[in-house]
Amino acid sequence: MIEDVYKNISWLGHDGILYQNKKTIYFDPFQIAGGPAADIILISHDHFDHCSPDDVKKIQTKDTVIVTEADSAKKLSGKIEVLKPGETKIIQDITIEAVPSYNTNKDFHVKAKGWLGFVVTLEGVRVYHPGDTDLIPEMKDIKADIAFLPVSGTYVMGPQEAVEAAKVLRQNLCRLTQRHGGRSNFTKEKLILFKNPRDQGVKVSR
Ligand SMILES: [Zn+2]
Repeated sequence: MIEDVYKNISWLGHDGILYQNKKTIYFDPFQIAGGPAADIILISHDHFDHCSPDDVKKIQTKDTVIVTEADSAKKLSGKIEVLKPGETKIIQDITIEAVPSYNTNKDFHVKAKGWLGFVVTLEGVRVYHPGDTDLIPEMKDIKADIAFLPVSGTYVMGPQEAVEAAKVLRQNLCRLTQRHGGRSNFTKEKLILFKNPRDQGVKVSR
């Protein structure tokens, strides 16, 4: 079941994720060439590389629902649902939970902004897109079957922190979304740090 849902998910580069089955759902589309029309677009926060009105336009229709926080909502148009961390909304029969997303040791993503991560239930499988975040205490309460952890160390958690987050989350599948530099920037040295969660039954894939 989890593997089946995972097969319907593709990484669009940076923090962009596309789920495509009966519904077409995008998370943080950025620098995409285009793609299938979106039923739902989830946008975690208003930094340009997550909330990109130009990219949204490429996949948005008059029926597309955008789920986001207040700062991003100001930059977008169409059908928009604004959520705060801790809120849950069912959109087109898809359950979307907004969870906290923030930095603990840097100031790029301040908790008070109320920016978002998302846990979306797809075919009964809970998929976690954390937005731009460090390892935060709230993660111990997040139940996810699949997690897409951001890794850079500059604006979000670094590799070692991501290992800890993978342990805390105890999800079955964990994929690293590498940031700010594309695939070539993800060195073998960094990957090796993920040996631990894999040994504990967390499957780490690229
Ligand atoms: Zn950001």
